[in-house]
Amino acid sequence: MQVFKFGGASINTVERINNVAQIVQNAARQGPLMVVISAMGKTTNGLEKVVEAFFAHRQEDALRLFEQVKNQHLTLAKYLLVVQYHACLERFADFFTEAEWLLHDKPVREYDYYYDQIVCIGELLSTTLVHHVLLEQKQAAAWLDVRDLFRTDNNFREANLEWATTAAAVEKAVKPLLLQNLTVVTQGFIGATADNESTTLGREGSDFSAAIFANMLDAQSQTIWKDVPSVMNADPRLFTDAVAMPTLSYAEIIEMAYYGAQVIHPKTIKPLFEKRIPLMVKCFLDPQLPGTYIGPAAVKHLPPVFIVKSNQAMLQFSSRNYSFVGEQAVGQLYQLFETLHIRPNLTQNGAISFTAIFDDKPEKLEQLAQAAAAHFDVQLQKGLQLLTIRHYNAEAIARLMEGKTMVLEQKTATTIQAVCLDAGAV
Ligand code: ASP
Ligand code: MG
Repeated sequence: MQVFKFGGASINTVERINNVAQIVQNAARQGPLMVVISAMGKTTNGLEKVVEAFFAHRQEDALRLFEQVKNQHLTLAKYLLVVQYHACLERFADFFTEAEWLLHDKPVREYDYYYDQIVCIGELLSTTLVHHVLLEQKQAAAWLDVRDLFRTDNNFREANLEWATTAAAVEKAVKPLLLQNLTVVTQGFIGATADNESTTLGREGSDFSAAIFANMLDAQSQTIWKDVPSVMNADPRLFTDAVAMPTLSYAEIIEMAYYGAQVIHPKTIKPLFEKRIPLMVKCFLDPQLPGTYIGPAAVKHLPPVFIVKSNQAMLQFSSRNYSFVGEQAVGQLYQLFETLHIRPNLTQNGAISFTAIFDDKPEKLEQLAQAAAAHFDVQLQKGLQLLTIRHYNAEAIARLMEGKTMVLEQKTATTIQAVCLDAGAV
């Protein structure tokens, strides 16, 4: 069997949803297929706004913003469905009620809990719609609420999967459907606790969900359908000379994701690696294109890979009395990072200071700076860019770094990273 994952951009218009249905139907003729889908277009961001309003006691705003999400789905359903229209709306109504029931209350629990209860609705709606489009087009398809399968802990927004319980549920619920030649449609990114509270696995987590299914179902491959022809050595929106990379190793893609290339979710590889399942990245706009094949074997002679992360901030933690910033102090800092769910993109340790680069999330950084101020002098610098080149050479360094004002540099045999003042273009 194969596992397909479709992201939000592949289903954000009537044409694109029809296109996805076409891709699914063509593949379903070749054998059993499981389809994992994330929320439509920018729905997740929209639902995040709903949660923010709700939690700030702006109930009317929250309901109005949720209404927009509802209408986007209802409009698409109207254009796409005839026979299945009412069945789809009935399903939608379950999820609308689930969210609105909560939004009519007052927040009494923590933010992250509400985040997961509301944000999960995006995936439930998108998969419901795609499922009914497949049925409308006479494709034998089943829909599953992944919250009945993916059991997680209650670490809301970054929930951890309980592997054994989930594997047993997948075996019991999914295998029989595949054996009946049904295409199984379900949600990425979400799960539920043993108490039936919804959880999410971290932003962009649908790739990871698909990989979990691939592992548990011993898939012959996983395909992630994107709007680019293949994995490229740089973001083609920033680099007009970006080139395709037809073959990559698991190790290379995981490094690229780690340094911030927005190719796949970094957790995707482990479940695939365990069973040596190849990962394909293909273009939903032109399924004939070969895309990128990612597998266990090392790949030689890769071009330089450029990764640019803008909107970075640097925090420098310095000791006040010339005592070393050693294991204990660094341990304290990492404890703070963990508590605040904030991960440094680059760190550097000196004798009496520790420097860390973060995505510039002002609230989090403010919290971090305040907490760290109990032990350190803290300095913040904003407006930075983190540039990374893997497999660098002199030409590549000149290409990316020339004319930049560098604040910090780190280099290993394969990778060079520089923090620079953000001058806009690269
Ligand atoms: N819809 C979720 C997000 O936007 C999950 C995903 O796209 O993978 O983060
Ligand atoms: Mg997405």
